[in-house]
Amino acid sequence: MAQDTAEEKTERPHSEDGSQGSEKRESTERAEISNFEIVQHHFRAAAERLDLPEDVTTVMGTSYREVTVQIPIKLSDGQTHVFSGFRVQHNGARGPYKGGIRFHPEVDLDEVRALAALMTWKTAIAEIPFGGAKGGVNCPAGDLESSEKQQIARSFIDKIDKILGPTRDIPAPDVNTDAQTMAWMMDQYGKLHGHTPACVTGKPIPLEGSFGREAATGRGVVYLYREAAPVIGVKPGDTRVVVQGYGNVGSWAARIMQGLGATMVGASDAYGAIRNDEGIDAEALLDHVKEGGTLPEFEGAEAIDADDLLEIECEVFIPAALGGMIHERNADRMNCKMMIEGANSPTTPKADEILEDKGVYVIPDVMANAGGVVVSYFEWVQNLQHFRWDEREVNDKLGNIMRRAYRNVSGRAQSSEISLRSAAYELGIERVVEAARTRGYIT
Ligand code: NAD
Repeated sequence: MAQDTAEEKTERPHSEDGSQGSEKRESTERAEISNFEIVQHHFRAAAERLDLPEDVTTVMGTSYREVTVQIPIKLSDGQTHVFSGFRVQHNGARGPYKGGIRFHPEVDLDEVRALAALMTWKTAIAEIPFGGAKGGVNCPAGDLESSEKQQIARSFIDKIDKILGPTRDIPAPDVNTDAQTMAWMMDQYGKLHGHTPACVTGKPIPLEGSFGREAATGRGVVYLYREAAPVIGVKPGDTRVVVQGYGNVGSWAARIMQGLGATMVGASDAYGAIRNDEGIDAEALLDHVKEGGTLPEFEGAEAIDADDLLEIECEVFIPAALGGMIHERNADRMNCKMMIEGANSPTTPKADEILEDKGVYVIPDVMANAGGVVVSYFEWVQNLQHFRWDEREVNDKLGNIMRRAYRNVSGRAQSSEISLRSAAYELGIERVVEAARTRGYIT
């Protein structure tokens, strides 16, 4: 069994998925198991339970295509830096490959591989017609000027454009890339292939981005909370919520929860944590962050040690920062009834066991944070039709998909007496295997 990881870092001011400020400090000790090991652990366990033949397990457990390219860029220090760019297409049985592109100095093939596989299962669980992919460039995104980021984005697309396209592989933003990055990528792809808005998602609204995309992952988290709340006997009005990582996902989830009547009693960012048992105003906190403030500097709450965030008594804890934040050395400190994983792989397998013993209801990343890719799917559909839906339509359709995923996964979890995570993986894997078999890719 796997133990515990280090993964992505994020920045301020946040973008769609974050980046990194130079004075940032690690606010919580993370696990030693890698993201890849976490995803493989869950995949292998599910494959065994499903009794998949060995050849099928190999096909599903490895990538279809892994591309590494060289990106030499002259930075403002006058030196040419040679970065590596990765694009991993894990499985395309259910449709074109789909997944974000991350800029981060710690990006490597292993991490991208893990995140690509996660996308395969996520799109299958949400029943949207995509395969799974992920990309990344190992550049120091937090220290780059916008013009440098633009050069990297364009150069990366130049080097991988042959494997991209609206019917092949559609990137999106991820850590340290945002709508602006997608605009550059779309523009570069257009220079090579003609104007093709459907070649990337997460674009700015004036460039055929979708309404509701920015909020989508946080909103999806809240749709799942609403489905699951009766299961653990809580109502929004009585719900105290703690958010680890007050960036895009965390701040949207917190604000939407607050709109339902919930009270945020704790939050954290890369600089530290805060608590206020009377409630922290989620809107005011975001305004503070947008003005360049860190969470510990926020006047409406008390600054606490980052590790103490886990001990705040609450109904719902939302990890929305990095991978491997909840591990075997701190999982026992958690004081919540439900955890909804906004982040990718925030919980290690050992921590999962501890939380299960404690009776915490865990809604796993592979379903919980699917809202982003679901609205990316809507963006792609709108782009292909050169048509735009209003935000209400986007949100309603997102709600339908998230609720359907929850019903399917929780139904399977109940009937098989397994965790939501195990049920989600089983369901995702089954759907991908069925698609691959029906196509004749495997027998
Ligand atoms: P973001 O950069 O907007 O926010 C991340 C937040 O985490 C920031 O506030 C940052 O300060 C904070 N943070 C960083 N290190 C921390 C630490 N050690 N302790 C506490 N907080 C820390 O990024 P985001 O888009 O909100 O993504 C957050 C997570 O959600 C990532 O794991 C990402 O992969 C996942 N995710 C995001 C989306 C999306 O649509 N944005 C979709 C699926 C999954």
